[in-house]
Amino acid sequence: MPLSTKAVNEWADGMAIKLVVPGADPVAARDPVERASAILEIDLAGIVANWRDLAAASTPATCAAVVKADGYGLGAAPIAAALAAAGCRRFFVATLDEGLALRRHLPVSIEIAVLNGPLPGSGDEFVDARLVPVLNDPEQIAEWRRVTAVRGPGPAIRHIDTGMARLGLTLREFERHADELRRDPRFRWRAIMSHLACADDPAHPLNREQRARFVDLRHKMPAVPASLAASSGIFLGPEYHFDLVRPGAALYGVNPRPGQPNPMRQIVRLKARILQVRDVDAGQTVGYGATHVMAAAGRLATVAVGYADGWLRSFGRRGGGSIGGVRVPLIGRVSMDLVVFDVSAVAPAAARPGGFVELLGDEYGVDAAAADAGTIGYEILTALGRRYHRTYRPATAATPSC
Ligand SMILES: *Cc1c(COP(=O)(O)O)cnc(C)c1O
Repeated sequence: MPLSTKAVNEWADGMAIKLVVPGADPVAARDPVERASAILEIDLAGIVANWRDLAAASTPATCAAVVKADGYGLGAAPIAAALAAAGCRRFFVATLDEGLALRRHLPVSIEIAVLNGPLPGSGDEFVDARLVPVLNDPEQIAEWRRVTAVRGPGPAIRHIDTGMARLGLTLREFERHADELRRDPRFRWRAIMSHLACADDPAHPLNREQRARFVDLRHKMPAVPASLAASSGIFLGPEYHFDLVRPGAALYGVNPRPGQPNPMRQIVRLKARILQVRDVDAGQTVGYGATHVMAAAGRLATVAVGYADGWLRSFGRRGGGSIGGVRVPLIGRVSMDLVVFDVSAVAPAAARPGGFVELLGDEYGVDAAAADAGTIGYEILTALGRRYHRTYRPATAATPSC
């Protein structure tokens, strides 16, 4: 029988009375970690240590930090603040909005460059927030010329495409504009840059072709710092470093040399809460679509993470987690808010409601997870959801090194 309107109102009034307790916020009073369904721990000290290692591997080139996509999903503001405290002076984001947001956390003495460059009409906002546009095509050059004519000379980075056909002036456009731009005093060139398409595959012939084209270009703007390498490019060797390197993924623990031991630290730990544990018989099917059939009797744990948290649906084929160092396979399909693990191999006392399954950590890092999900570490990181309780392990006090 449906409830009457009166009954519903009485119920709602009762709830309102319970929620508005004078003098105490019953939600805020509790420890957020205690009630968290899943906890994402981000190790700022580890990110700083990764940056220092990359900077050391690239000396004498300057080492910037790429913090686009909100620091690869991990929080651009706390990451950039920690890196700036460690001596990093140049940052890259993708969009104007990301640049504006980051500028609130970094003094104007620290450079923030915007890889996607200015859309028509947005040049003034770059000047106001002291953002450095990357100029990728003749339209963006025209936009910066228009703005600097009014607002005075402004810093910019020129991006030339040497073989990726994504962003950047074509070689023909570069030739057409080279002399005129070199002479124009309104452009204060902070760098010329290009981007490698295949740096994660050292044997790929395109690496050397792109480098050769870049060396040619650089001779036409000899006084301007040159930048070619991102994370993987740093590991192609010193002849790829030029004056400025732009690592992103490697800062966050993604292996810049796929197929070889990972030189970077893992900086993400993710664990999700066990909600229920149940014993099942052989033949029991698990989850939507009944895609998994238990071959033998066993024990299952239902865990509070799902594709709404960026725990990708493709983990349904071969994902896993661990409890106290024991691997537990993910079985059945990933739901929006839930997944099921087969915890038969774990001592019953170790897999109880309220406990955790570790999803990402030192042993099973972003690249291992990516391999299981059929993607790359970059996507695992940038998909990490907004629902996790996030904690940041602080970077210790640091001395500038780059
Ligand atoms: C994303 C990006 C980077 C950083 O790349 P990683 O592989 O994450 O190190 C550097 N330069 C450009 C142009 C980019 O788009």
